[in-house]
Amino acid sequence: MTNPLLTPWDTPFDVPPFAQIDDSHFQPAFDAAIAEGRDAIRAIADNPEPPSFANTIEAMELAEEALGRVLGVFYNLAGADSNDARQELQRVFSPALAAYSTEITQNAALFARIDALWSARGDLDLNEEQARVLMLTRRSFVRSGALLQGDDKMRMAEISSRLATLGTEFTQRLLADEGEWFLELSEADLDGLPAFVIDAARSAGEEKGVSGPCLTTSRSLISPFFEFSPRRDLREKAFHAWTSRGARGGKNDTRAIAAETLKLRAERAALLGYDSFAAYKLETEMAKTPDAVRGLLMEVWEPAKRAALRDAAVLEAMLHADGFEGPLEPWDWRYYAQIRRKAEHDLDEAELKPYLQLDRMIEASFTCATRLFGLEFKPLDVPLYHADVRAWNVTREGHHVAVFIGDYFARGSKRSGAWCSAMRSQKKLGGAVAPIVVNVCNFAKAANGKPNLLSYDDARTLFHEFGHALHQMLSNVTYESISGTSVARDFVELPSQLYEHWLEVPALLEEFATHAETGEAMPADMLKRLLAAQTYDQGFATVEYVSSALVDLDFHDGAAPADPMQSQAETLERIGMPRAITMRHATPHFAHVFSGDGYASGYYSYMWSEVMDADAFEAFEENGAFDVATAKSLEDNILSRGGSRDPVELYTAFRGRMPGVEALLKGRGLVDV
Ligand SMILES: [Zn+2]
Repeated sequence: MTNPLLTPWDTPFDVPPFAQIDDSHFQPAFDAAIAEGRDAIRAIADNPEPPSFANTIEAMELAEEALGRVLGVFYNLAGADSNDARQELQRVFSPALAAYSTEITQNAALFARIDALWSARGDLDLNEEQARVLMLTRRSFVRSGALLQGDDKMRMAEISSRLATLGTEFTQRLLADEGEWFLELSEADLDGLPAFVIDAARSAGEEKGVSGPCLTTSRSLISPFFEFSPRRDLREKAFHAWTSRGARGGKNDTRAIAAETLKLRAERAALLGYDSFAAYKLETEMAKTPDAVRGLLMEVWEPAKRAALRDAAVLEAMLHADGFEGPLEPWDWRYYAQIRRKAEHDLDEAELKPYLQLDRMIEASFTCATRLFGLEFKPLDVPLYHADVRAWNVTREGHHVAVFIGDYFARGSKRSGAWCSAMRSQKKLGGAVAPIVVNVCNFAKAANGKPNLLSYDDARTLFHEFGHALHQMLSNVTYESISGTSVARDFVELPSQLYEHWLEVPALLEEFATHAETGEAMPADMLKRLLAAQTYDQGFATVEYVSSALVDLDFHDGAAPADPMQSQAETLERIGMPRAITMRHATPHFAHVFSGDGYASGYYSYMWSEVMDADAFEAFEENGAFDVATAKSLEDNILSRGGSRDPVELYTAFRGRMPGVEALLKGRGLVDV
């Protein structure tokens, strides 16, 4: 029997033939692809010809095509639609990939060729993109320990492999822990909840196989429950479950993994000659140093905390007026904030929600891309990996640009959160390749075929992930290693967060926010109130986020803490964390930091990018929200460029200068505090 992962795909736009792929195909395809990559790398390293850019760097770019194909499919499924077999494969692949990549970075003959090219770079007649790829390739070898010798080199390999295993283990334990907890609700427990929360609770009950409604840790269910349930006892119970994810003891507890991870990261940084893991990590980011990150976070922290404490006093008075004694607790915040929002902005999430239909919001996100960049979206009928998943053919002036796949609904087999990934990245080397880009979200699916409705936050998430998708789809580079979102971590959120701003353009919601039952447009007054409410409760949101970012930075700036929970407590004490607010992600479920090292000492990145997106959108405010010339400059200077230039240069080319924090503080409504 042939393995569809190893044969050419006779499908529209080479979309993976999901209907023919079985879990039993992954291991043999993985083994064959690794073997192919290993042979290709060996041929490059042992090439008797003197090193050239083409026979070394370009050959490396092409060495892992088969592997990229297999992993593109596999990791998409493992994240969006997991099962026992896929989890087991992840446990096998993860250390094998780490070992493979260590084998490459420790290949002395290969590194000698790269280093020789680097020394001769002035004479190689490289274009700007090639020079950048050479620099990045050599730097990643050096950072992986290519200059280490003897025991240090061995230890480095051990650490990398162990860290990869720990990252997978953290993810899997957390997923298992999140999947295990649920709280059955009686009909009386539903009192006061809006219909969409009740629907979501009934759907969750069906999925869990219980007779009635239930509450799960899915963000789009539990978060509105905190906002709307008048039952303080249930909110407290649910809140403890929500915030103790990964810290309930037993086989799914992640705390020991976090501690070991931090220790190994610090050791790796020391081996490579850095003061700390943060110093090592930030070298390749726009921020460059831990001090620059701390500077930004603290510049925002104090105004945010002042706003939050002022709000806490108002909410606590509301709690007391309800007949409760004692201080405002974290499980009270969202509930009273929602009531206050309604009172001050007369904005009722339940009233708003029928206007935010998933399909209309998808259309809105597409239409923006049509108006700005001339992209068109047509449904594409191909077999995908789950009945809820949809695909579109993306074209411009009749030419195929990309395949876009949307996987929007929460289900037990999907990890939490929302993300964008490229199942296949854009590149031109070896023949032009158009990308296949996937957006995965966790929106609650309506029961009984009712229209799927989003909260405003959900709609923002949809736009956010679609912004990442545009960065992938509009990518126009030669080399895959710098394609699309392959950029510095603190730059990668710029396109996504920038795209969220279009959701705030009144003309867009006027057109697409139509009522699910009546089809009527959102009343002008409601729209006005909705947009005015966007800076509401930003003290809370900013405190939640910045505290997480500071805990992450402290974990990695200096010696590794023996007890991360203790270190977390010390950081929160030092910065004066308001008692009624908790971190957005506490350590035991801080997947950004512990599922891999992508966002380790990098959680600040969202805010670093926000400094830019707030400023970048001002360019559109100055010239018009759908000004095509500004959009073209954004595409030419940023969206199409991937990692082909230093992000400071890319941003400056678009905007003429780098921004300060003013636009961000203004955007969050924190300037007057
Ligand atoms: Zn993002």
